[in-house]
Amino acid sequence: PDSCEIASTSSVILRVAVAAPLAGLFDYLPPAIPSDQALVPGLRLLVPFGRARRVGILLALATRTEQDPTRLKRIESILDTRPLLAPVDLRLIEWAAAYYQQPIGEALFTALPARLRQPTPLLDDRIQGVQVTPAGQHLDPATLGRALRQRELLALVQTTPAGIAMSTLRQRLGDCGGPLRALRDKGLLTLCYLTPDSSPLPPPLPEIDRPTLNPDQMLAVQAILDALGGFRSFLLDGVTGSGKTEVYIRLIETVIAAGRQTLVVGPEIGLTPQLRERFTQRLPGPIAVLHSALNASERERNWHQAARGEATLVLGTRSAVFVPLPRLGLILVDEEHDASLKQQDGFRYSGRDLAVRRAQLAGCPVVLGSATPSLETLHNAGSGRYGWLRLPQRAGAARPPTISLLDIRDQPLQAGLSSVLREHMHAEIAAGNQILLFLNRRGYAPVFTCHRCGWIGGCPHCDARLTLHLTLKRLWCHHCGWSQTLPNRCPDCQSDDLRMLGRGTERLEDDLRPLFPTATLARIDRDSTRRKGELDRLLGTVHRGEAQILLGTQMLAKGHDFPGVTLVGILDLDQSLYASDFRAPERTAQLIVQVAGRAGRAERPGRVVLQTRHPEHPLLQSLLRDGYAGFAAAALDERRAAELPPFAHLTLLRAESPQAEAALAFLREARVLAEGLESAVQLLGPVPAPMERRAGRYRAQLLAQCAERPLLQQMLAQWNTALRALPRIKGLRWSLDVDPQDML
Ligand code: ADP
Ligand code: ZN
Ligand code: ZN
Repeated sequence: PDSCEIASTSSVILRVAVAAPLAGLFDYLPPAIPSDQALVPGLRLLVPFGRARRVGILLALATRTEQDPTRLKRIESILDTRPLLAPVDLRLIEWAAAYYQQPIGEALFTALPARLRQPTPLLDDRIQGVQVTPAGQHLDPATLGRALRQRELLALVQTTPAGIAMSTLRQRLGDCGGPLRALRDKGLLTLCYLTPDSSPLPPPLPEIDRPTLNPDQMLAVQAILDALGGFRSFLLDGVTGSGKTEVYIRLIETVIAAGRQTLVVGPEIGLTPQLRERFTQRLPGPIAVLHSALNASERERNWHQAARGEATLVLGTRSAVFVPLPRLGLILVDEEHDASLKQQDGFRYSGRDLAVRRAQLAGCPVVLGSATPSLETLHNAGSGRYGWLRLPQRAGAARPPTISLLDIRDQPLQAGLSSVLREHMHAEIAAGNQILLFLNRRGYAPVFTCHRCGWIGGCPHCDARLTLHLTLKRLWCHHCGWSQTLPNRCPDCQSDDLRMLGRGTERLEDDLRPLFPTATLARIDRDSTRRKGELDRLLGTVHRGEAQILLGTQMLAKGHDFPGVTLVGILDLDQSLYASDFRAPERTAQLIVQVAGRAGRAERPGRVVLQTRHPEHPLLQSLLRDGYAGFAAAALDERRAAELPPFAHLTLLRAESPQAEAALAFLREARVLAEGLESAVQLLGPVPAPMERRAGRYRAQLLAQCAERPLLQQMLAQWNTALRALPRIKGLRWSLDVDPQDML
């Protein structure tokens, strides 16, 4: 209200977002001793906050405050010499905070490397480079004789007299400290600092064999190149092996040559060293990689490399969508259907959706690529909002795999495999081929039970059963991480007749050994790859053909190609056919198609056998008859009829508490508040979450649904404010999940 707005002519007001889970901005006065540094949005500041000090980000300058101006405090200091975030970066984060109902301070500091939450100085962020001296410029590298590394290095640096970034050198030549020192001592090279603006284009790579694009690829590349320089969204809808990555590479080449940066966002990049390797081999770099397996300072270094415009390609998981890119020219989202692109706690943003928003703000094209696009994206493509580029055929000589259903009702099973599948496996092994078995359950057995009294090992903190892990001799809860040693006797009746039911990958591996005594097995799941380097080692044995049977969980469905695999067995997906989440059919279809796509990528055709007790299930039938596209069209019709996304927009209000009733009681109150808001938004619930108790907390949820996104957004903003104003309840936590991806 106007009455408490007091014009302050004496001083400018700094509007600051603070690293704290509090909504809104906080007003401060400039420092007592004016610095000669201009106060511009995006700067990090140190501010007094309560009785402590916090790091904040200056978002705006104002002339008036709604707070009592006599009580405003001065900021303590300006932390950096230049803003970390440009206005366009701030706009994206502000938009995301508003859309996902997140405090702006939390959103901002999610977007920055973690270390910068503390008042620590930035790492040295000048671009170190190497430049050839006049003497070096005119020296024929051949005169260096047998010092091959020095010759290689000198020849590379000579291509770019303005200097080459050290990161580019390392990427091309590996560690070259020795030859570098030698050439420096000979006066042929000098070290220098490059500035982002003057930093020349990286030297071109030596000519390598590039496949000639097929007509579909050419159309896709051309359509996207035509859109460079303005905003446009595309779906690149290409079956696995159709050459999507080749399309990405051609696009990035052009963008780099135009002096611009490309951002590639994908799922769990740590899982796909193959993709990184292909980019490194084919693109002149430097490439900055950002994913969770990096330590904090590696992350920050790579972040700066992107933010100062040095890295021409930034390859990262969802949070990379926030990295400042001063020369952004193109955004690619790989495997856009993947659920890991949505953050599942705290700031629950969708990396894919923000990529589209970012492209719009930056005025550049965005390409969403997948062999199994999400129904949301297909709908956007179908309605003409996105350009729809199709690559329906595998590139090169590879043929698509054939998928068949194997009815296992009444069939004798060994190791969970029907005799038909076992015979196929023997034949493939005899022919020197490889086999992939997919079982989406890790551990030894999902149920551990007493045969005498029926006791079942359950988690004391969750409504969930404990999974038996035999090598570790423990029972584990896969939901909260709790575990106990394996009991010898039933805790209820003391019987020692304890048995395990069902089969996970660990048991499958054990059971396969006697059935295929000559075969080498490679098991790939979260347990077998926990040790650093183990995943690469296992994948290596598969690629070198040393393992004949590859078995594992959905880790196998993502990103890896197994050219030697000619047979894929999909075991036991029946449970997910009947899961309650409305996205379960979509996810199951994507999983089947993605796993199937791993097979027969080279000249050897692949065959996929799906074991099921429900061969008549409509999802399986439509997938087999019409492929993923046919399945998706049918699934979209169902969503339309049921008024589910993408035909309606959802937000889930989740609450949890150690007391059984408290979460539901809070949500009932939240519902009353929402009903007072007079909007077209429909409310469903509250209901207990499908797994009500998890990690010792009782969980419940209330669903808000609306056909019009702006109406839902309007209502959410008011609702969120009202919810925040409610008195705090001890132990109760709640959060709004906009566009929820799972209903657990
Ligand atoms: P996707 O990313 O769609 O799975 P890739 O780009 O990895 O497909 O291509 C699959 C395989 O086909 C790779 O080995 C790639 O080198 C090869 N390939 C891609 N495009 C062509 C082409 N036009 N001609 C021949 N081979 C190609
Ligand atoms: Zn018992
Ligand atoms: Zn648990």
